[in-house]
Amino acid sequence: MLTKKQTEHFRKKLTAELREIEERNKEKVEELESETNDPSEKFHGDEADQANFLEERSRLLRLRDRDRKLINKLHEMLAKIDNGTYGVCEACGMDIGADRLEMRPVASLCIECKKEQEEREERDKALRRR
Ligand SMILES: [Zn+2]
Repeated sequence: MLTKKQTEHFRKKLTAELREIEERNKEKVEELESETNDPSEKFHGDEADQANFLEERSRLLRLRDRDRKLINKLHEMLAKIDNGTYGVCEACGMDIGADRLEMRPVASLCIECKKEQEEREERDKALRRR
């Protein structure tokens, strides 16, 4: 179990990360919107410009998508802190451990279960390739 002090430490860490991503994400959305508002200007260029523009746009959308997932994850973790299940492995119910959480505050599995999950995913991927 995490001590009260450790729990507060992780709460601060998660909250700080959440703020940072939300801030970054807001800039990205504004960037995307300013581009969408004036597409005509962009498309006066040649095809290479257009390809660059579309490439950049899809890159931003991908980033935003990843950020959104991370934001959800961080909210989930903060809810866990509130209900006292933060730091408990979702698969086996053992402590994840403060060291692992320090490196990866959004971890929801202990290192053993994580390894197992990754091995399973690797096996599935290998099977699908065949
Ligand atoms: Zn576990």
